[in-house]
Amino acid sequence: MTTANAYPTSQTIRTIGILGGGQLGMMLAEAAMPLGYQCVFLEDNTDCPASLYGSIYSSEQLAEFIAAADVFTLEFENTPTETVEQLANLAASGQKQGMFPPPIALDIAQDRLKEKQLFNDLDIATVPFKAVNSLAELQQACQDLGLPIVLKTSRGGYDGKGQYVIKQDSDIKLAWQDLKDAVSGKGSLTPTPAPLIAEGFINFSREVSIIAARGQDGTVRCYDLVENHHHHGILAKTRAPAIGTSHLFAKAQASMTTLMNHLDYVGVMALELFVSKDAQGHDYLLANEIAPRVHNSGHWSIEAAITSQFENHIRAVVGLPLGDTDNVHPAIMVNVLGQYPDVKDVLAIDGTHYHSYHKEEREDRKIAHITLMPNDVTDLELGLARLVAVLPNKVGLDKTVNSTAKVEEVDSAVIVEETQAIEQVETTSKVKNAAEDTVNDTTNHTSKNNKAKK
Ligand code: AMP
Repeated sequence: MTTANAYPTSQTIRTIGILGGGQLGMMLAEAAMPLGYQCVFLEDNTDCPASLYGSIYSSEQLAEFIAAADVFTLEFENTPTETVEQLANLAASGQKQGMFPPPIALDIAQDRLKEKQLFNDLDIATVPFKAVNSLAELQQACQDLGLPIVLKTSRGGYDGKGQYVIKQDSDIKLAWQDLKDAVSGKGSLTPTPAPLIAEGFINFSREVSIIAARGQDGTVRCYDLVENHHHHGILAKTRAPAIGTSHLFAKAQASMTTLMNHLDYVGVMALELFVSKDAQGHDYLLANEIAPRVHNSGHWSIEAAITSQFENHIRAVVGLPLGDTDNVHPAIMVNVLGQYPDVKDVLAIDGTHYHSYHKEEREDRKIAHITLMPNDVTDLELGLARLVAVLPNKVGLDKTVNSTAKVEEVDSAVIVEETQAIEQVETTSKVKNAAEDTVNDTTNHTSKNNKAKK
């Protein structure tokens, strides 16, 4: 039987309300449309990227936003937990069809201390850490953990604020002066008073992340581990899959599954991990943090996975079966920071996909991303060099994505593949050198300015 509108009568969820309207919201809406769903956004910036895809409601229009949507999710984890709880309560009382992920996931992700405590409670290894409420506790933590340590605010801490690497005793008082206001809730570091967290400084060999989706029936599907490179805490590029990490995948998958099941999570979540080496030289993983949402290190999945992280998040939120998370083609995702390139130059490189976020240019702001997946995988590094050459801002992109020197336990097939890629780059070193010569990697930032901007 046909109906007056475009939806079959059995399809009860029609509009997804998303908290936040940035590029993640925009890409969620792009994924929702072909499945037959539209999105509306709660966002105070009316010019936000998601405004191209659906109605924007300001925080003062919360009631209208709620009325406009059937089910809710988020794309911004610093959303007030009260709003998320309000939406979860509406769902619990049957007035709405769900708020995913659950408020507990947000509560944990907004607080580094709770997050690391939960990891340890679930037998997921982390760097050693201590809560710090006073200078005396900081001095004690430095003694117990041993220098160097990283002192961080446990809440807030965006835009490069909120972290300090203490290398020597004379740094202790300086670090305390810099961050102590977060403990009392004064100043601009964090909206909520909370202890600082002192973490042992880890000499990791690589930073990786695993992204997974969990459906409403409890099914968990993980994407491959990917390798991330940051520039002053901002993601610069991701390689998917991360070369030579097959021996770490089972552990990462188990940690992710344990976390998601524990939180009764629904939707996509990212887990950021450090790869380090034990005394015998064996790789092991340390969990750093979760992001209870789609994640920048999963953008490659739009083209290079069978089902993208955005589609899988939407599928989870509306209760559809999850899609296959397999990688269909090795890819490198590069963030465009601050300045747009000429799209013609980018697309002249075979295997590039360009995603503009329609944002104004601003220093180090994420304004677009490019996924590079040349047909011949051995062209990946060469393609990256060409891409770097046409990007006005090359920060964080000066080094190759991986080197055989870093990876000791790699399948021989992977080594062959990687060596071919490196040889390919060497034979075209003119292109690569041109790219590297023009790298503008400013090195005068202090190590405390390294909180990842999401
Ligand atoms: P986070 O805000 O915790 O994601 O940290 C931002 C970046 O700082 C990470 O991506 C790491 O590169 C670095 N970092 C954070 N914590 C540590 C640590 N305990 N030891 C060494 N480096 C760290």
